[in-house]
Amino acid sequence: MAKNIFLALACGFTLPLIGCVTTSQVATIESYVIDSETYQATGKSERIKSIVLHYTVSNNARSIKTLTTGNVSAHYLILNNDDDKIYNLVPENERAWHAGNGGFAGRTILNDTSIGIEIVNAGIKHEYRNALKNGKLDYHPYEHYVEFDELQVKKVGQLVQDLAKRYDISPKNIIGHADMAPSRKIDPGAKFPWQRLYKEYGIGAWYDEFDKQFFMSQDEFAAATIPEIKQAFRDYGYQLNNSDEWDKKSRDVIYAFQLHFRPHHPTGVIDIETYAILKALNKKYAGRDDFY
Ligand SMILES: [Zn+2]
Repeated sequence: MAKNIFLALACGFTLPLIGCVTTSQVATIESYVIDSETYQATGKSERIKSIVLHYTVSNNARSIKTLTTGNVSAHYLILNNDDDKIYNLVPENERAWHAGNGGFAGRTILNDTSIGIEIVNAGIKHEYRNALKNGKLDYHPYEHYVEFDELQVKKVGQLVQDLAKRYDISPKNIIGHADMAPSRKIDPGAKFPWQRLYKEYGIGAWYDEFDKQFFMSQDEFAAATIPEIKQAFRDYGYQLNNSDEWDKKSRDVIYAFQLHFRPHHPTGVIDIETYAILKALNKKYAGRDDFY
């Protein structure tokens, strides 16, 4: 051991030009030892940054089959059975394939950094499945969505509470699939009880009513330009283009936001209440996460 060190030092400091360093002359070890106590870094954070909530648009049996045998998956599955079980399909330290293209709060490829939770729910009621096809309706209203079971809400509340605590996930990074992929997805839909989960379990983001009323009483909405309003959506975390028109993709963002924060009247059209809620959220949840 001492001899090997001596040789390595001699080569390094006195004989650099004759190429004396070979693998046989540097320190040799049987196997290395990981020392995780002597030095510790302060620049670090959790790899899991967000929780993405979904509904499955199918029943228990088909949801299980799709999520366990296909090329889509989620970390957790909540059936609508009358029991106390939550199914863990993918270990939390592995990637589940639930998020797909999109992004939120400056992050894309959310499968890398999120926990996905699928909830068995039919989504849009059967009789309204074709409601958008004749072109008269751009988006599904509140009534078109299927309710979640009470027991499912309780399971989601407890699970998300636990995950958010363990990974120190910031409130606004607890999102729906629609929030990160507004032109592809509308789940978990208008009936997902975000406000209730905030109030009863302290999870996710919600605005303060006082702030909303304040922003509604201001003239800001009337004066705001489209790029300014779009910037406010981006400030909160939504991915949105910078054009000065409400093109379909931009309206999809408004609809996703309304599904989450004004679910009883989702229209895809910006209005004073939607803008006031957005301003109230930005006031309350200003600042960004770490992006290192
Ligand atoms: Zn989804």
